[in-house]
Amino acid sequence: MKVQCCCCKKTRTDQNRWVEEQPEPADRVSHTYCPKCYEREIRDLRSAMLLNTPMAVAH
Ligand SMILES: [Zn+2]
Repeated sequence: MKVQCCCCKKTRTDQNRWVEEQPEPADRVSHTYCPKCYEREIRDLRSAMLLNTPMAVAH
């Protein structure tokens, strides 16, 4: 089974490297994040959460 990043569409190789390669149509593909996109997603998520947090009002 292939593992593909759902963001940048890179595919993980047996050597645990991420390469720009399309899986064969016959391959079963599992979608996940590559480390790069994972970090970016987490960062975006964090800043989105910060933005959505109501600011403490200073009196
Ligand atoms: Zn990616």
